[in-house]
Amino acid sequence: MEREHMDLPVVRKLAEKKQVGWRNPKKLSWEESKGTLPVTAEEVKDAEARLARFAPFIQKCFPETKESGGVIESELVPIEKMKDLLNREFGGTIEGTLLLKKDSHLAVAGSVKARGGIYEVLKHTEDLALEAGLITLEDDYSKLASDECRKYFSQYTIQVGSTGNLGLSIGIASAAVGYRVVVHMSSDARQWKKDLLRSHGVTVIEYESDYSEAVKQGRKESDADPKSYFVDDENSKNLFLGYAVAAGRLKEQLTKQGICIDEDHPLFLYIPCGVGGAPGGVTYGAKEIWGDNVHVFFVEPVEAPCMLLGMATGLHHEISVQEIGLTGQTHADGLAVGRPSGFVGKVMDPILSGEFTVHDKWLYEYMRALIKSENIFIEPSSCAAFEGPLKLSQYEETKDYLQEHGLLEKIPNAVHIAWATGGRLVPEEIRREYQDTYLEG
Ligand SMILES: *Cc1c(COP(=O)(O)O)cnc(C)c1O
Repeated sequence: MEREHMDLPVVRKLAEKKQVGWRNPKKLSWEESKGTLPVTAEEVKDAEARLARFAPFIQKCFPETKESGGVIESELVPIEKMKDLLNREFGGTIEGTLLLKKDSHLAVAGSVKARGGIYEVLKHTEDLALEAGLITLEDDYSKLASDECRKYFSQYTIQVGSTGNLGLSIGIASAAVGYRVVVHMSSDARQWKKDLLRSHGVTVIEYESDYSEAVKQGRKESDADPKSYFVDDENSKNLFLGYAVAAGRLKEQLTKQGICIDEDHPLFLYIPCGVGGAPGGVTYGAKEIWGDNVHVFFVEPVEAPCMLLGMATGLHHEISVQEIGLTGQTHADGLAVGRPSGFVGKVMDPILSGEFTVHDKWLYEYMRALIKSENIFIEPSSCAAFEGPLKLSQYEETKDYLQEHGLLEKIPNAVHIAWATGGRLVPEEIRREYQDTYLEG
């Protein structure tokens, strides 16, 4: 078995920790794929409506969302100076517009997890509240923030396994509703994330092992308690739907900024990938809106390319990066995942354009470049996104992709979005530590 997938050139390169550009050979047109997927546009609409119902509650619990009326959304900003710097100092040949989607700065959780994580906690809360008759669908949900409701929710527990950011999102949101919260943290999780969670009254259990093991233990403990709910990052459709809502909002932002996406103005999204839920959800949402005019590429660290490995071998969550001799350990803590989601990879098979892998060294270089050019800080995991626009026209594989999709002559009109996935909550002293980190490679 092992030898068989080692015959795939891309798997051999992954095993050698080479940076790769990969195009997904299973990709179909949107017309061919859309009817076959286990997710529907209605489900995304339903998630949007649920978030709208919860807006008054979110606004009440998190005053930082007051200005946006309880909508947790990030800015989309042009980063022309970063584009110039990537072209000048990193050998890039980026043409078209380069934008940054600042999920790194999302309210409440300071990462993309504020989308999926908070959505899943709210979905569960609505289910419980409707069942208990605490609210009806027509009510003003801010009443869920009352002492009486909080007391009701305090008999329930939410648990989750995390490398850090998902724990922060679930932990902060669940504590706000009133739940008991237990976060099972893998060895990759940073100390400050554990400290921050504990300051919110969250129980943090630390494991010496990796993310998959933390998830497994969390799932086991939660399943043993009928009043506990497990947010299952390896299988959750709710997380996926929460992330997918991003696309409709992105469309509004692009329209407001006068940026047109159509056949002659293709959209490229570059999203850092861990277990796959966040980038997968955003991808699905974007395909629903722009179909064949959007091209999505994930980026993973060379030591933890679990989604690429799962998709290229067709084994999805049946294979881990450790099985091809990689450690799964990376400075990109948000991406330190050895085995992909069992749900997402199969959804991505017909819709994902491709992937890039990147050495940790470059994450710090891109991070410094973004600070220098735009004065924006995002965490190293997030910086994986820049590998996409930088290398799109450089690997044979991705060049072939552009050619086959008739994109070469449209590239000057392209809109590239680097999806920044985390950073706002990183403490000042850790930012300085990152700034001073230089890796060999
Ligand atoms: C979680 C995370 C991702 C990727 O999300 P997955 O759902 O694990 O693929 C990317 N960047 C950061 C900073 C994250 O925390």
